[in-house]
Amino acid sequence: MTFRVRIAPSPTGNLHIGTARTAVFNWLFARHHHGTFILRIEDTDIERSRPEYTENILEGLRWLGLNWDEGPFFQTERLSIYKEAVQDLLDKGLAYRCYTTSEELEALRESQKARNQAPRYDNRHRNLTPEQEAEFKAEGRSFVIRFKIDDSREIVWNDLVRGEMVWRGSDLGGDMVIARSSEDGIGQPLYNFAVVVDDMDMQITHVIRGEDHIANTAKQILLYEAFGAKIPEFSHTPLILNMEGRKLSKRDGVTSISDFKKMGFTPEGLVNYMTLLGWSPPDSTQEIFTLEEAAKNFDFERVNKAGAKFDWAKLDWINSQYIHSMPVSKLTDMLIPFWSEAGYKFTETKERPWIEQLVALLQPGLARLTEAVDIAKMFSTETVEFDSEAIEQLQKEGVKSALQAVITALDSQQLGQINASNAKDIVQQVVKEQNVKKGLLMRSLRAALTGEMNGPDLIESWVLLNQNGSDKLRLQKAINP
Ligand code: GLU
Repeated sequence: MTFRVRIAPSPTGNLHIGTARTAVFNWLFARHHHGTFILRIEDTDIERSRPEYTENILEGLRWLGLNWDEGPFFQTERLSIYKEAVQDLLDKGLAYRCYTTSEELEALRESQKARNQAPRYDNRHRNLTPEQEAEFKAEGRSFVIRFKIDDSREIVWNDLVRGEMVWRGSDLGGDMVIARSSEDGIGQPLYNFAVVVDDMDMQITHVIRGEDHIANTAKQILLYEAFGAKIPEFSHTPLILNMEGRKLSKRDGVTSISDFKKMGFTPEGLVNYMTLLGWSPPDSTQEIFTLEEAAKNFDFERVNKAGAKFDWAKLDWINSQYIHSMPVSKLTDMLIPFWSEAGYKFTETKERPWIEQLVALLQPGLARLTEAVDIAKMFSTETVEFDSEAIEQLQKEGVKSALQAVITALDSQQLGQINASNAKDIVQQVVKEQNVKKGLLMRSLRAALTGEMNGPDLIESWVLLNQNGSDKLRLQKAINP
């Protein structure tokens, strides 16, 4: 048997980290079993669904490397299939039209509340006579289609993450609405119904989704039975929690994949981290792996029931591992958009080798791509502003004359451009001639060339600045502010 799984996002918002993590588990499971991963867009909520969210979802999945084998299928293009299925249940007597008004439902809820009972529909229109129906229609009432739920039923499934799950029919809130009124008398399908019709039609063998869908699963199993269809396996994955143990929400900063992208995470690092949100590989010390490597080992035995805490420090660490080991040319391609957006001209004015040299210089210090914006700022202009620590350094005794000696040495090099070895020679030469401490000279050079007291390797930075004479301008400014 070929395993068939799906991710079924609703385009009512950007691709959420929780949905993306569910997509990761579906993808890993499909790849592990050489199965099929299907993408279905659940866009039946016409008011809240938007094409730009669909775009964001497709783009996010692609960016993360979660390629799908079939789809995207759109529920709005499948309405006639749902209508046929509704008709089928009506014909079998397993569903019926319910004309209860919202006022009547509200009154029912109030009376249940007053008796401290959980709200549920009391199935009052389950057995209407044709005359009663005709009367309600004549009153101009609209209807919904309800599917009959037997309160005495016990619904049991063996969840791949949570083991045996048992639900009672009486806990499902009475006969469930599967479609709303529409002019043709059959109705617009609702989520729980359309999902089952689609999962049957697409021959889904394993439904892998977040644990917030557990109550839906109980209802959906009854629908499979009503259609006489094979019930798939279910696997409910743990929620993603913040560090305080509450469900991760917008308040915790970002929640959508496009936000993570903007924050400077690499797709490989982010998807690697998401894989670990609830799953661990057999060798739990191994934390860095590709999706393909994870797929080899993936199974639900190693998925936790407990919620997975979202740990920013760990995500940063994993992301840094990908940045540090990435080929410089690939990292350059990834950083250029961030620099262009920051308005740094060197992305256009400099030759590629210079940019790559800069990237190689910054690479070991980066955990997020965005950090390269601040660090590269000093390379984006000809001169720099000195911060207060740098100013203090430049005012120290003997500093100005030492820096003047550096300028003289640079002039006498007649090299055009310096390399790291020339730069080190100049430092040695000035230390000797001027009788200054090497540490003092290096700190002063850093202050003069970068405007700050901390930053990437000084000699390499100098070599880069030297290539357009910016080093000399900065040294002059440090001497005569
Ligand atoms: N459209 C549902 C959601 O976004 C999918 C649920 C499912 O996977 O069955 O939560």
